[in-house]
Amino acid sequence: MHPALKRIGDLILGTERKVRMRVTLAMIAFYGYSISSLLLLFAIDIGLVERQQGLWLMTYIWVGMGTFYLLVRTDWSSRLGNPGMDLPQCLYATVAILWAYMIAGEVRSSVLMLVALVLVFGMFSLKAREVVILGIFTVASLGVIMTIMTRQNPHIDARLEFIRFVLAASTLPAVSGVAYYVSQMRARLIEQKAELAHAFALLQEVASRDELTSLVNRRHMQQRIEEEAALQLRTHEPFCLALIDLDHFKRVNDQHGHAMGDLVLKEFAQAALEVLRQTDVLARWGGEEFLLLLPNEHPGDAQAALLRVATCLKRHQNGPRASGLPVTFSAGLTDHPSGEPLHETLERADQALYSAKAQGRNRTVARLAQTAATDQANSLADARQV
Ligand code: GH3
Ligand code: MG
Ligand code: MG
Repeated sequence: MHPALKRIGDLILGTERKVRMRVTLAMIAFYGYSISSLLLLFAIDIGLVERQQGLWLMTYIWVGMGTFYLLVRTDWSSRLGNPGMDLPQCLYATVAILWAYMIAGEVRSSVLMLVALVLVFGMFSLKAREVVILGIFTVASLGVIMTIMTRQNPHIDARLEFIRFVLAASTLPAVSGVAYYVSQMRARLIEQKAELAHAFALLQEVASRDELTSLVNRRHMQQRIEEEAALQLRTHEPFCLALIDLDHFKRVNDQHGHAMGDLVLKEFAQAALEVLRQTDVLARWGGEEFLLLLPNEHPGDAQAALLRVATCLKRHQNGPRASGLPVTFSAGLTDHPSGEPLHETLERADQALYSAKAQGRNRTVARLAQTAATDQANSLADARQV
């Protein structure tokens, strides 16, 4: 679309999605009012409608249209507790049509069908209860107007008016009924959509979590580190990864049972989350192996974070409902240089973890990208934990 046209569209309809939708609906009324106004001018011109009465009706139409437009466009309607102003707009239009019926002379029966049009419009915007209100209002006002007209004007044939009323009063409830049904269906669809969105969010949550520890699972973590690596290409912010493995975990299972092993795994997850930053992500990478992502962190800080985890784990193990087992962990820490394939980073973390195990466990060994390339000793290597 041409930028100038888009700017005009934005100016008229607004840019906020919901406001835009409501204003667009109000614009359908604008279309109807414009056609009716042209016809009204023509009717005045050929002497079918009395000039002054026609102009009053036109003023009513456009003052109303302008007011509703401003209320919806500025979102003042939300403050009034009725964002779309749908029922007031439909009632207002019905009054305009009935008014036109009163002054349209011989062609008034043609005007009557517009009443059904408002109900059809209401089908897509009104709540079921509002459709009923609109239907009752339309039939009742029509009855009142026809009675007044036949009483005041002896030239109007009351029998003809009666036939028109019976026809309108019997067809309008049918239209109203369909409109009611459609708006109920719409409400059900909106409800189902919300339920589906909720179920989907829940499913996503379940699919990305590990059941035992409630940490994110391997699949989610894989995505998360890929996102982090992609982000790093733009920001060049450092991030670290640490592969963590519980020491001699098989012994825990063998000597104390699988349930105790599970408790130790949960204990580790809880302790770690307690002392890590909100932005750090800890995942259960598999069995008793965990992967820790430390965004915006240099290896020195990452090492300090792992020491905090070790200290906190020890504190947890001695807590009231704890395992009481002095389980420790080893960690292989590495950094991720911008643009490096992730499997290489993970491979380096794995090598560092292997070194930590080989050096006696219960420690963090850092193997950084630069030093690993020249295979020199790591400045951060061999940090005994507790
Ligand atoms: P190391 O210090 O070398 O890591 O020794 P380890 O005994 O921890 O060695 P290994 O990695 O071979 O043992 C992992 C054990 O973890 C084996 C497996 O039975 C146990 N395991 C894996 N997943 C679970 C789990 O969900 N619950 C329990 N209780 N045990 C698990
Ligand atoms: Mg293991
Ligand atoms: Mg292990």
